[in-house]
Amino acid sequence: MKKILLLVFPAGALLAVLFWYGNSVDSPVGSLFSDQAGLLLALGRLAGIVGALGVMSQLLLVSRAKWLEPLFGLDRLTRLHHFNGLIIPFALLIHPPLIVWSHALQNGAGFFSQYLAILKWDDILPAAAGETLILTAVFLSLPFTRRRLSYEAWHSVHLLAYAGLAFAIGHQLELGGDLAAELRYFAWTWYGLLAFTGVTVLWYRLLRPLWFYKKHGFVVDRTVMETPDIMSVYIKGNGLENFTVEPGQFALLRFWAPGFKLQAHPFSFSRAADGKELRFSIKKLGDFTAKLHAELKPGTPLLIDGPHGAFTAARMRTDKALLVAGGIGITPLRALAEQLAARKIESVLVFSNRGRKDIPFEKELAELEKTGAFRTVHVLSEESEWPGEKGRVDAERLKRLVPDFAERDAFLCGPPPMMAALNAGLRRLGLPKKQVHFEAFSL
Ligand SMILES: Cc1cc2nc3c(=O)[nH]c(=O)nc-3n(C[C@H](O)[C@H](O)[C@H](O)COP(=O)(O)OP(=O)(O)OC[C@H]3O[C@@H](n4cnc5c(N)ncnc54)[C@H](O)[C@@H]3O)c2cc1C
Repeated sequence: MKKILLLVFPAGALLAVLFWYGNSVDSPVGSLFSDQAGLLLALGRLAGIVGALGVMSQLLLVSRAKWLEPLFGLDRLTRLHHFNGLIIPFALLIHPPLIVWSHALQNGAGFFSQYLAILKWDDILPAAAGETLILTAVFLSLPFTRRRLSYEAWHSVHLLAYAGLAFAIGHQLELGGDLAAELRYFAWTWYGLLAFTGVTVLWYRLLRPLWFYKKHGFVVDRTVMETPDIMSVYIKGNGLENFTVEPGQFALLRFWAPGFKLQAHPFSFSRAADGKELRFSIKKLGDFTAKLHAELKPGTPLLIDGPHGAFTAARMRTDKALLVAGGIGITPLRALAEQLAARKIESVLVFSNRGRKDIPFEKELAELEKTGAFRTVHVLSEESEWPGEKGRVDAERLKRLVPDFAERDAFLCGPPPMMAALNAGLRRLGLPKKQVHFEAFSL
């Protein structure tokens, strides 16, 4: 079933383009490809179709759909969404001038007078506003603008793209030449694609977390400080034995208390689920997490959107693991280590922190070592009296600590520069690409 759903959108997009071709060759005025104005019109429509398909695919990529996300992982889908977002604007940008140019040639009018005339057509002004909103969202997502905005400001503006799409839909349905064509196949395909995208986004982004809340009634049971900066939040709920989580996955949490409701933030499950309670461990990093540390109270209800992510044991190609965590990057690996130890799969955790006081779960990790299948090597960068490993974790150190690393699956989670350096270093030292898995704490 999941595979069928995966094919619906690409198949629909292909059909839409084929129908565009058919409608252009066999239009009410003959083949559009036979004169310049017709050709410009056909290409303008194609640009509109490709742009709209691009926007729909963008929404699907961030819909967190269960038939899509486990196959690639949410971070990869998000990266694809970023990349796609740089290409689609070209189709959206060339769509209006091509159509205007075509009509100007047909009417013997100047480009700008034709442009002003078209602006008066029904549904064109909202479409122009919609396109402007979508392009603004794209512009603000370019690396040099995004860097200057807080996550919240960027995210709010990004949501404008949804409004932009809503504004632009009317003109597709009212004016789209292919929708009005004699043969209604294009229209059926198009309505189908719009409905498929709308239902997917609505269900997975909005209704599913609400439905889970209704079913499980998630509520904060207690909070426990693991280090001065990391707080574990224990969640209770009904029927948690039916809430399936793979160790290594994460969820987006929306705490239902004043000051928290408007933001959902991603956090990894920091323990394998036991059917009784869930645990997240949250580092104080910015506004939201600092407020959580200061104000979160037992009894606070929350919406859980998840679990998500493919940073799980299902990805393993070998029968041994190397886990490398930097600071709070331990959370998914702590859960994974528990699962691997329970399955007697041999694993080594190399865990880097600044000082002894910054190490979370030290006792839990020591407890896991008793299974005999797991060991931890702590590496501290700012603890001069530390008798163990000191300094930073790099590929050479991993090779020394775990000489058979190339025969293992490596799971990396930590600050992005550390992960990039380790990924490159381990690959250079002979670890095959398929055995390297990482979770970036950024979407
Ligand atoms: C898959 C994943 C798993 C994570 N697991 C954990 C975990 O187990 N424990 C933990 O402490 N942290 C985890 N994080 C990081 C955590 O989400 C951020 O630290 C937190 O959202 C920061 O919010 P802030 O407002 O306090 O800080 P800010 O200073 O506002 O944000 C710091 C950075 O966090 C990211 N961020 C902020 N808000 C959001 C948001 N709503 N959605 C997505 N990213 C956001 C942005 O990249 C931003 O630059 C995880 C992140 C991801 C993507």
